[in-house]
Amino acid sequence: MSKKKPTVRRPPRKNRGRAGKEKPRRVSIPRSALSGIGWPALPAPPAAAILALNYQFEQSQWWPPEAIEAMQFRQAEKLLAHAWRTVPFYRDRLGVLTGLKRGGLTMEAWRRIPILTRADIQDGGLDLVSRALPKDHGRAQDASTSGSTGQPVSFKRTRITGLFFAALNLRYHLWHGRDFSAKVASITRLSNPDSVGEPHNWVPGHVSGPMVLLDIRTSISEQLAWLEQVDPDYLLTCPSNLRALFQRCAQTGLSFPKLREVATRDELLDPDLRAKCRQIWGLPIVDAYSAEEVGMITFQCPEHPHYHVQAESILVEIVDDQGRPCRAGESGRVVVTDLHNFATPLIRYDINDYAVVGGLCPCGRGLPVIKTVLGRVRNLLTLPSGEKLWPSYHFVFDDALGKFLPSLREAQLVQRALDEIEVRVVATRPVTAKEEARACKALGEALSDAFAFRFVYVDELPRPRSGKFQAILSELSD
Ligand SMILES: [Zn+2]
Repeated sequence: MSKKKPTVRRPPRKNRGRAGKEKPRRVSIPRSALSGIGWPALPAPPAAAILALNYQFEQSQWWPPEAIEAMQFRQAEKLLAHAWRTVPFYRDRLGVLTGLKRGGLTMEAWRRIPILTRADIQDGGLDLVSRALPKDHGRAQDASTSGSTGQPVSFKRTRITGLFFAALNLRYHLWHGRDFSAKVASITRLSNPDSVGEPHNWVPGHVSGPMVLLDIRTSISEQLAWLEQVDPDYLLTCPSNLRALFQRCAQTGLSFPKLREVATRDELLDPDLRAKCRQIWGLPIVDAYSAEEVGMITFQCPEHPHYHVQAESILVEIVDDQGRPCRAGESGRVVVTDLHNFATPLIRYDINDYAVVGGLCPCGRGLPVIKTVLGRVRNLLTLPSGEKLWPSYHFVFDDALGKFLPSLREAQLVQRALDEIEVRVVATRPVTAKEEARACKALGEALSDAFAFRFVYVDELPRPRSGKFQAILSELSD
């Protein structure tokens, strides 16, 4: 255990050889599928498809923004034609584009399509699912999420959306120069906390060092003990968990000498956490912004703390409350279109986050820039002991409420007193006593048994004038 707080970061271990000599950089190659052929590799699907996409990403990232946008609209036309033909929900909705010629889609025409809300997806149900998914997109798989909104939505994804996710993940590792032979420790939400499985590859399409997993519900002291034992090169976790780790490490001085980088995802990263990471562990944070419904949205530029939209996969618009596009420096709602999900096309989907538009990036990439993702204001809960709690939206809205209240439409948690949390629920039918009891128990596991949860059933949850609805909020003063 190292109790000393590092002030200056030593160079990464890979460059530290004996007698000052640099060790040769370890190389990593794609996984080969042919007998006797190891290098250069001849990969089989899906690795071959992941590499084929990545080859194109390597070129398209340097295109000028207009060229990227033009290609996005060519792909969007294919998506629109498919949605209009095979998805009942879009039959009327896309009527606004009647008369549009092939190759004629422009931003002006695109903006005539109404913005899709979470409530639209909830109401649309199966009408949003394609009646004729192309066979080569693979079988559609069900998924659902509440994000940070308390409003669960269900949708389908395909083999193709999975390929794009993997190829973008590979790009993310390449951008940030990650050493593919390194060991990654991931503290994340596992469907079964006890089944961490065997260490596995973490670089799509490649042979890589191991990734080891730990469930995020593990206590912070156990997480730290595990990290000491695992001794990883990279740590991957969500910002709220990282904050809790820092809180403990700031008190004890514990650090991890081999660790080179912390990567965050799944939640919005408060800028202060970057400073904390430098101060406490002497390390940078690299952040990615994604959503269950559409996969990877943006990740950090290799040279700057802002984010590049992954425009080959997703069309992102930042709009004001009237739906008008925001200019560089302005903040607005994030509206996304997954260009390749033909199972549940999500076209101009308001994902319920706020972001600030960035200008052109000095790195030379033409991919659009998001300066910061603001998300929603996340209020901390306070335990009766006075300790602060950073709730996980996944645990609260997906694992607890979403799982045990099948009629849930929307929910909000409000801390009214140190030991009491009001659970405001909008449901499509009355919730049974049994459902409530199970949801209540699950909330205790997701947050703390120290809280009493009082369920209140309402017709709707009022939106504040700012429009920034908070699914979890505290009424306690600090
Ligand atoms: Zn850049």
